[in-house]
Amino acid sequence: MDVKSPLVVVLGTGGTIAGTGAGPDDVAYQAAQLSVGQLLQAVPGLSGVALEARQVAQVDSKDMDWSVWQALARQVQAALAREDVGAVVITHGTDTLEETAYLLHRLLDVDKPVVLTAAMRAATSAQADGPRNLGDAVRVAERAARQGQSGVVVVMAGVIWPGCAVRKAHSWHIDAFDGGGCEPLGRVADDGVVLDAMPWVPPGGAGWSWLDRAPPPRVEILTSHAGADGRVVEALLAQDAKAGDPVKGLVVACTGHGTIHQGLTRALEKAEQRGIQVWRSSRVARGGVQCREGDRWPAAGSLTPAQARVALMLDLLGVPPAHLAG
Ligand code: ASP
Repeated sequence: MDVKSPLVVVLGTGGTIAGTGAGPDDVAYQAAQLSVGQLLQAVPGLSGVALEARQVAQVDSKDMDWSVWQALARQVQAALAREDVGAVVITHGTDTLEETAYLLHRLLDVDKPVVLTAAMRAATSAQADGPRNLGDAVRVAERAARQGQSGVVVVMAGVIWPGCAVRKAHSWHIDAFDGGGCEPLGRVADDGVVLDAMPWVPPGGAGWSWLDRAPPPRVEILTSHAGADGRVVEALLAQDAKAGDPVKGLVVACTGHGTIHQGLTRALEKAEQRGIQVWRSSRVARGGVQCREGDRWPAAGSLTPAQARVALMLDLLGVPPAHLAG
């Protein structure tokens, strides 16, 4: 082994990449069954890379929550603080990968790479894509560490995406992710060779402690659609009068370039009068909502509604604003 090879810490959180089914042809499976150590054993050709594996969580990422993010952030911070560690790789589910990647992008505050990866097929499937994705992610991480590159990226199906912009764009294709209009940062060829195309996006640099400073502010996502009359907002406000965990922010998945049904608009105005922050994102797959003069409510740029929710939570916590992708 090359003694100069930087140590890569691989953190497991669950997901389909760690999922198992009854057999290779079974479509049904249970996510988050195999340990990150088992996942690494299934990846050929990594004997030249110094690796350390740690299990942070074992969840189906549809169930991702703040406490798992806190645990993950602590482990990423601890690993990257070590001088012998060059990079961190995270195995994750695909469902909320774009949220975790965006969160980590905003918080990462050291000049080291963080590479997330996932899989669209369970580990027991005849089409399992996890071993290739994990192998690619480790190679990208190791190379980035050697080159002194920093930032958060996602490696899926041989493509490197910026963590601030990546999103799940197909619900079952193996090649399920894209950059929402951002070009890939690079690719990994079938033989494992990493091909760079563009410089990585510099991380937000806010620091990890933000996640532990206060309870997460409650932010909900609403969709504007035909017949949206705002009753869901009224219900939230009525519930808030009784509950101890009031809504602090609302992200609207708007029609088109940030438009909202008039019925929903009236209810949102009431919510705003009660001190609730309203942000606009788009339910349309490309383009997002860019800021324009005279905007009634802030626009979330190219972030997906789910990423915009993370951004608004960070904003409400006091995290300094970052450049919004796109
Ligand atoms: N439900 C799974 C998860 O997000 C889906 C996947 O990983 O593809 O954990």
